[in-house]
Amino acid sequence: MSAAGLPTRHVLSYGGGVNTVALMLLLIRNQEPLDEVVFADTGVEVPETYAYMEITRDYLERYGIPFHIIRKRNGKTLYETCEARRVFPSAIWRWSTRDFKVHPILGYYRSLGTHVNQYLGIAHDEIWRMKDSPSPYVTNLYPLIDKKMTRADCVALIEAEGLPVPVKSGCFFCPFNSIGRWKWLYETHPELFQKAVVLEEQSKHFPAQRLTDQVFREKASVKLRDLASRFADGELPSSDPSLSACGGECMT
Ligand code: SF4
Repeated sequence: MSAAGLPTRHVLSYGGGVNTVALMLLLIRNQEPLDEVVFADTGVEVPETYAYMEITRDYLERYGIPFHIIRKRNGKTLYETCEARRVFPSAIWRWSTRDFKVHPILGYYRSLGTHVNQYLGIAHDEIWRMKDSPSPYVTNLYPLIDKKMTRADCVALIEAEGLPVPVKSGCFFCPFNSIGRWKWLYETHPELFQKAVVLEEQSKHFPAQRLTDQVFREKASVKLRDLASRFADGELPSSDPSLSACGGECMT
């Protein structure tokens, strides 16, 4: 029971990346209370992340734990929304996180009619991403931080369980993508990279704003199309080391 007299439900907010997969394993291994796992789907994760969700679903089934996918109510993906508004996600305003992650998840929790203890997969080396829930009926829990588990510890836990290590999750055109992530996308999913180029160049804010503004803060003049040429020439431009990652809600 919560302080407000409501029953409490324990929910893991899943992001599809290393940290939340490791947290899922840890919770199950330690027999911590876990009523369900939820994933807020923007519709624009990379194919590897969607494939890993099937592995996750199978794993959870063994323990009888439901895996619940939550989508924005209008059913549009983040890409479709950006196309229609002629914008791309803003690293400053974070409307994509708010509209496609935070609000759908909190709306779902509200529909449960319980207090929710929400497990979040933030590793100890990302402790600065911890924050309290804005909702009075949700309490955020950070077991990886409590146990001082780093990202490397999370990888080791997944490997020890005999599961593949997931690729970094997150929307394929996330403005927080590092140069390395853009290069991986360019090489592994050129069609998705091209879709990001189209989105960037069709934005009403382009070229004043670009999807790479976070990684090239000092020399803010690199378009994705230019980045592709540099990758094609075998160049790997250095990233801004102060680049911030996608926020806690995105769980990447
Ligand atoms: S992964 Fe990036 S683009 Fe997707 S919701 Fe999070 S901040 Fe927005």
